[in-house]
Amino acid sequence: MMMASLTSAAAPEQALVPGGIAIMDLKNYTPETHITFDGRKTTIFKQDEAWYALAAIPLKAKPGTYDFKIQQDDSTRVSKVEVRDKKYQEQRLTIKNKRKVNPSEQDMQRITSERVLKRAAKNHWSDTYPDADLIWPVSGEISSIYGLRRFFNEQERNPHNGLDIAAPEGTDVRAAADGTVIEAGDFFFSGNMVYIDHGQGLISLYAHLSRIDVKPGDVLRRGEILGAVGQTGRVTGAHLHFAVMSNGVLFDPIYLLPKQQPTAQLQ
Ligand SMILES: [Zn+2]
Repeated sequence: MMMASLTSAAAPEQALVPGGIAIMDLKNYTPETHITFDGRKTTIFKQDEAWYALAAIPLKAKPGTYDFKIQQDDSTRVSKVEVRDKKYQEQRLTIKNKRKVNPSEQDMQRITSERVLKRAAKNHWSDTYPDADLIWPVSGEISSIYGLRRFFNEQERNPHNGLDIAAPEGTDVRAAADGTVIEAGDFFFSGNMVYIDHGQGLISLYAHLSRIDVKPGDVLRRGEILGAVGQTGRVTGAHLHFAVMSNGVLFDPIYLLPKQQPTAQLQ
């Protein structure tokens, strides 16, 4: 199989910073085991016959002690995790289409209704155990990293919650892992966007696409083409905005991606 060589054997390393991930080894895991992190559900996954819980640490999280709580057979175990601080840089971008920075009243209505769809996709849950070993959805230069504090036309907006990978318009975009499409459509800021549910609250999204090749309900294998790189929505050029979340919390996708981009395999 072409994609088999892209998987790495080791479980993801944790990054105990805002925007990072906490990973816990699970001994004797059964589907009845209930694991939370800071009171939120976690993403349970299996790798090399071992079970793990993955928790996303929100970008807004304050440094300090956080708890994994493991409830099993009427007993509760707590494992403490120290989250340290991380400083994220600023990024200043100039957007030619001013409506994408200061939307009109009509745009605002659209944005409000899209927010409902986005929230539903973000908080989607399925019991399937995901493969946390993602592949690069596209190869290219990383034009913007996760977590940057963003100023569009000198106005501060939400921090960057994904990874921007620059690639020519029309380049194939591939599913980062097996999953089911839960949302696909044209959004005001994100342009053409696809959400894939991988299971256990692990969801990936692909934005600014030039075209979408899938629809909600489609089951995709890792590496399957879902659309193409474009520059739809609020952009300064063609790139893929790739974001990953666990149970509604967006974290830096870099922590689940292989260190090297498999340029030769993907193009
Ligand atoms: Zn982006």
